[in-house]
Amino acid sequence: MFQVSHVSKQYGKTLANNDITFSVDDGQIAVLLGPNGAGKSTIIKCIAGLLRFQGEITVCGMDNKSIDAKRILGYIPEMPAVYDLLTVGEHLEFIARAYELENWQQRADELLARFELTDKKDKLGKELSKGMQQKLSICCAILHNPKVVIFDEPMVGLDPHAIKELKKLFLELREEGASILISTHMLDSVEDYWDIAHIMVSGMFAATKLNNAQDTHEESLEELFFSITEGQAPSQAE
Ligand code: ADP
Repeated sequence: MFQVSHVSKQYGKTLANNDITFSVDDGQIAVLLGPNGAGKSTIIKCIAGLLRFQGEITVCGMDNKSIDAKRILGYIPEMPAVYDLLTVGEHLEFIARAYELENWQQRADELLARFELTDKKDKLGKELSKGMQQKLSICCAILHNPKVVIFDEPMVGLDPHAIKELKKLFLELREEGASILISTHMLDSVEDYWDIAHIMVSGMFAATKLNNAQDTHEESLEELFFSITEGQAPSQAE
């Protein structure tokens, strides 16, 4: 599980995250919805340990910037960052060496097959399309079997097969007990696999909806989303 406690992040005069507190349990899928500019990527980057912030974030009880926390964290950035001059296969080997993994080849091959990258194994990062880079980024982020996985706008640029595989992967990770956070501005990509949804506006959580009988909202997630965000910054347009 991971816990975000009173996290605020300011860029110059812009307060991108304003005192955010939430947690994601083991075996739970949380989605972070919100219009562009709501602060989703910022909180995700804070959790991934890429930004300085005020407040506290722990991953399975450990400070998120500690090496032990990073060992069990997987992060899929919005823009895939692949190495131009490493092949697809070398990317996975690089990750395996960095995390000191053993017997990783079979899992790597299975991931490549799932995301239709097997025949691209010898291609260089710079030779891949944006969608292929995104798929490689997903494979690299989960090769070490992370307990906490955070996806920033993961569907953007993926083909239908990859989207289907990715949704299956979310459910498998949940089944294995991982804590999963998925940010998106595309409400229709969320469908029904979420357990808890946070709607973010102007750096804060404006509403939280549960996907079970304990939820107190009468509206669907979509209705709730639009009742909160309509008239705010552009959302579905970009
Ligand atoms: P979202 O992911 O929901 O689209 P972001 O977290 O990217 O939102 O951005 C939240 C706010 O922070 C926006 O107003 C954005 O312009 C601002 N912002 C994001 N990154 C930076 C940055 N590196 N420098 C300055 N302002 C930034």
